[in-house]
Amino acid sequence: MANPKSKDRGTPKTGQPPGKRDGSNAVARPRPVRPFSLYNPAEVHEIFRRFSVQRPEPKGELEYVNPFTLLVAVVLSAQATDAGVNKATRALFKAADSPEKMAALGVEKIGDYIRTIGLWRGKAKNVAALSQALVRDHGGRVPETREELVELPGVGRKTANVVLNVAFGQHTMAVDTHIFRIGNRIGLAPGKTPEEVERRLVEVIPDEYMRHAHHWLILHGRYVCKARKPDCPACAIADLCKAREKTTSIPAPLVEIEPLGPAEPVGQDI
Ligand code: SF4
Repeated sequence: MANPKSKDRGTPKTGQPPGKRDGSNAVARPRPVRPFSLYNPAEVHEIFRRFSVQRPEPKGELEYVNPFTLLVAVVLSAQATDAGVNKATRALFKAADSPEKMAALGVEKIGDYIRTIGLWRGKAKNVAALSQALVRDHGGRVPETREELVELPGVGRKTANVVLNVAFGQHTMAVDTHIFRIGNRIGLAPGKTPEEVERRLVEVIPDEYMRHAHHWLILHGRYVCKARKPDCPACAIADLCKAREKTTSIPAPLVEIEPLGPAEPVGQDI
């Protein structure tokens, strides 16, 4: 029978990690792995089920009449409010609701319509150039792949993801400032870059909720889980939330929410 007090330094005790093969006593520690999400699949499902009860058919606030005008509206929305963009595009889209008409309008006239929007000079150039590219390279249609969309002037990954999701129903996730904050704050999809958060959200959100997840997260970030001070007492997922800064674990009543309040600046790339 083995003497329990004997010291056999060459053999690790049960339950202890082995030393290094070079004979040193240093113990190899597993590298810390950033989790994809602090939430298990059932919790993620429940979070989005509640969002779907609150807003069964969420809509963005940008106005558009077809995929082309959506694309233009999203390009114009960088560092501007949706309300401000809508004010300008109502007249613009009456004059030009297709790439052909927009290209015919030209940079100067487009600029006249959008002068009230920040960075309008550059945006007018981009809208004219992307319209020409759509006519020249895509038969006047908005392409349905991210690779083709990001080739267009003024179109980045986030804009492409919005268009693919909203206009074509694809399961993409456009990570704006609100979604980036929520992904990290509550640990739903931690990431150092928007692309990392995007990838993790697409991995963890159940397929059945991907169609509207983008809008639900933006609206949750805009009106409840706000940047400066999250409004936890008004939050329907407060019991599930694992954010360090949450102030209550009592969830707000789960009821359908009417469209809310004034629009904040959205659409900015981060
Ligand atoms: S409980 Fe607070 S921190 Fe958590 S998601 Fe809701 S508002 Fe954000």
